[in-house]
Amino acid sequence: MPCGVRLRNGQYDRNQARWQWQIRERRAMSILKIARMGHPVLLRRADPVPDPTAPEIQRLALDMIETMIDAPGVGLAAPQVYQSLRMFVFRVPVSRGGEEVSPTVLINPELEWVGDEIQMCWEGCLSIPGFRGEVPRAMRVRYRGIGLDGAVIEREASGFHANVIQHEYDHLDGILYPMRMNDLGRLGFEEEIARAQAALAAEQKDDAE
Ligand SMILES: [Zn+2]
Repeated sequence: MPCGVRLRNGQYDRNQARWQWQIRERRAMSILKIARMGHPVLLRRADPVPDPTAPEIQRLALDMIETMIDAPGVGLAAPQVYQSLRMFVFRVPVSRGGEEVSPTVLINPELEWVGDEIQMCWEGCLSIPGFRGEVPRAMRVRYRGIGLDGAVIEREASGFHANVIQHEYDHLDGILYPMRMNDLGRLGFEEEIARAQAALAAEQKDDAE
């Protein structure tokens, strides 16, 4: 299954519903407006967050989680909500295979590749609605950043989890996924790509029978 950074409607799981309920209990959330490709905020290198535990950063992080879940998406970086700051939120749904990761905030993250294995990922982006493209990404990465509680998060990730982290981290450096593609022939409307992939799968099934 190709990996991607956007979920289709209705792919919530029970854990996410629980999380949503928990954060709603804590305070009223806001859905933030998402910047689209073409806006300069998406091309700028974002600034470090001076104080990750500041109340306004906590509030922004929770609003970003709410916005990501509402979209629905699996990652959202601060520049996508017009805040040129080095922080993003992400999640790895159980439907993506591998270990599930509940919505997580990463502030002032650092990222490094582990090994030189490449994976080809079908990605989407909330700032480029309706499109998908195939992007080469590192199979494994190590990352580190400050979480919502101010504690350091340090993990090694592979597959879809590593894909999401690389996509979101790129947003902090003003890089959108088409800028990482090596074949723009692999960029297209989500609907058309899904149709073409379904047709190909049906053809392969016929051949196998
Ligand atoms: Zn994106």
